[in-house]
Amino acid sequence: MTDQSLTRVDRDKEDKNMDKSNLSESVIFPKGEELPELFSKYFSGKAWLSMLVDRDNEFNCPIGNVTFEPGCRNNWHKHPGGQILLVTGGCGYYQEEGKPAQELNPGDVVLIAPNVKHWHGAAPDSWFVHLSVETNVNAGPAEWLEPVTDEEYSNL
Ligand code: MN
Repeated sequence: MTDQSLTRVDRDKEDKNMDKSNLSESVIFPKGEELPELFSKYFSGKAWLSMLVDRDNEFNCPIGNVTFEPGCRNNWHKHPGGQILLVTGGCGYYQEEGKPAQELNPGDVVLIAPNVKHWHGAAPDSWFVHLSVETNVNAGPAEWLEPVTDEEYSNL
């Protein structure tokens, strides 16, 4: 397991001061469609997905743009091949099991090692947008686990 999965990059003041209430309308990449049932059942709240790079054998590196409404987060889960998150908008959280949640802001990069149990999602009062880069996808699909409870989420 990695010691420190989060690398903060310099952010300018504009990012910090952006009007988060309108974030869902100010996306860099397409917002896409509301998550299909296949995935939405592993989320609390509404999220949207736009695949920017499809799952294929040529690049073997699917990339999706994920938009979370305020309060939305995914269940605890693991990626057998790992995952990289590139934060593009809003304010959210990333948490690994047994560690404190880390606040995420635009410009943050999260390296999630294979099989590390974690969740990611929006802050209660902010939209949140990240790119999800799936790495080593031949290792298999995500393993979805229990929801992040309201108690866990409200104690961040
Ligand atoms: Mn993940």
